[in-house]
Amino acid sequence: MAKEQGFFSVVKRVAALALTVGLVASIAPALISLYLANSQSIKEEQHYAEVLATEVLRRSDESSRQIIAAIDTLQNLDPAHPCSAVNLKAMADIDSASPYLQTVGHVRNNYLECSAYGLHGERFPVGAPDYISGNGYATRINVELPPGSGHFYAMSEKGGFAAVVHRGLSTEVFVDDPGIALGSFARSSKKTLLSRGPFDARWIDRLGERERVAFWGGDYTVAIIRSTVGDYASYAAIPARQLALRQQQLALRMVPIGVLCGLVLALIIWRLAVAQSSMPNQIRAALRRNEFFLQYQPLVELQSGRWVGAEALIRWRRSDGEWVRPDVFIPVAEESDLILRLTERVLQLAGNDMKPVFARYPEFHVAINVSAKDIESPQLLPALGNLLQDGAAEPHNIVIEATERGFLDAEVARSRVTALRAMGCKVAIDDFGTGYSSLAYLEKFAVDYLKIDKSFVDTLGTDAPTSQVVRHIIEMAKSLNYLMIAEGVETGEQASFLRAHGVQYAQGWLFAKPMAVSDLLNQLATKA
Ligand code: C2E
Ligand code: CA
Ligand code: CA
Repeated sequence: MAKEQGFFSVVKRVAALALTVGLVASIAPALISLYLANSQSIKEEQHYAEVLATEVLRRSDESSRQIIAAIDTLQNLDPAHPCSAVNLKAMADIDSASPYLQTVGHVRNNYLECSAYGLHGERFPVGAPDYISGNGYATRINVELPPGSGHFYAMSEKGGFAAVVHRGLSTEVFVDDPGIALGSFARSSKKTLLSRGPFDARWIDRLGERERVAFWGGDYTVAIIRSTVGDYASYAAIPARQLALRQQQLALRMVPIGVLCGLVLALIIWRLAVAQSSMPNQIRAALRRNEFFLQYQPLVELQSGRWVGAEALIRWRRSDGEWVRPDVFIPVAEESDLILRLTERVLQLAGNDMKPVFARYPEFHVAINVSAKDIESPQLLPALGNLLQDGAAEPHNIVIEATERGFLDAEVARSRVTALRAMGCKVAIDDFGTGYSSLAYLEKFAVDYLKIDKSFVDTLGTDAPTSQVVRHIIEMAKSLNYLMIAEGVETGEQASFLRAHGVQYAQGWLFAKPMAVSDLLNQLATKA
């Protein structure tokens, strides 16, 4: 027996598909959010570096302006007597008007002779300039004033007049990580001016002629902004650990959102997958791919043991070899109009299969199962008509099996059954006794057979209270003159009982299981 497939393996198949897609759908947004968290934190980190560099530049520019203004004013003083009382008074005035400047003074031969503080009798050595810019400003970036005091300053000088600023002036910006490097560098000489923390000379090239840049410079997130006041640019460099920290924090916020989005997406995909691979869709596909075929279970005349007919039972074998049971797909098909297409297919298949059988055994019949929808549908009679016109069968070769449910609308049922019998076909009530027991229709119109349901046959020879029902059904059928067919006969005792009580026909594993039409034809040679 081929492996049989039920509802649960259909579910498994769908679940596997949806799970795969769902996993991808839920992981992808998580990865995307991780990626976004990373690129977003790089952006934010570069922005922070720019904010810091802007502040350093603002302070540098302001002190540059004050230095330039002070030195410009100092140029007007008498250069012959730079440290005269008048000049010293002027220096003191400039100094108090320039909050960024520590002091202003005069330098000769690398010595500070006097300043806004007065004459320096001993003259303070300031060393040679670190560099001299194109427009004649000499810059010393590390001058200790007074010597031995441990206080270091930067000094700009032109024509002997100098302005002194505190070394930390432009870089003492509040930062939350002491590892952050801040400072300025001269663009033409590429020398660092006031700065704190490490500086990589290669960063300068990244700026080029641009006004500002922000980039990932190896171990630092760097921002550089060019001054519009002087020949320098200010920078801020934030160590890598800050970026990692920011990425972590952002990921902690964004990844859960990504995962949530992923789950929602997975749910949607799951729903779509379930809908797509829903049973109705699978049945449609199976119809297209011709995956349905019929098996035939012989109907045995109990007195003689002869096979007088066979019930066509639909089978569905999927392309991968799995079988889907009719109990699984027939009820689904009955919920939609798909059952009409299935019945149509069954009629076609039965017509083809049975043609050689009827050719050899003209009295043999095939029983076709129809649903309530088929009974109500105007398609049933034309479809049967086609079968008969093909010459595949004569009307008496066909038995229509309908359950009591098919007769719920007594008026429609009456007209259909009447029409079927008028054509010469036979009608059987399937699963008799299990249905709605509205036996009223039995008075309104006649059928040919009652099929006693397997559940009653099963009770024969047991003490089950329902075992009496079979006797009643038999009595009733006899009084109405109906032929009886017992379903699901599995034991010789059941067969003997039924035979003894006048049941004419039986079906069941005791005699034969459903089989392919070729087997039926072979066995009919001895059984017909
Ligand atoms: P059903 O019309 O009552 O068909 C009889 C069922 O009992 C068949 O199951 C048959 O294989 C099984 N059977 C027959 N003898 C024995 C037996 O001795 N012991 C046991 N345990 N079972 C036996 P199957 O083929 O699985 O069909 C199940 C149901 O599916 C059918 O019940 C019928 O309601 C429906 N069905 C099958 N083919 C068609 C079809 O072509 N059209 C429609 N509308 N329904 C169909
Ligand atoms: Ca049946
Ligand atoms: Ca049945």
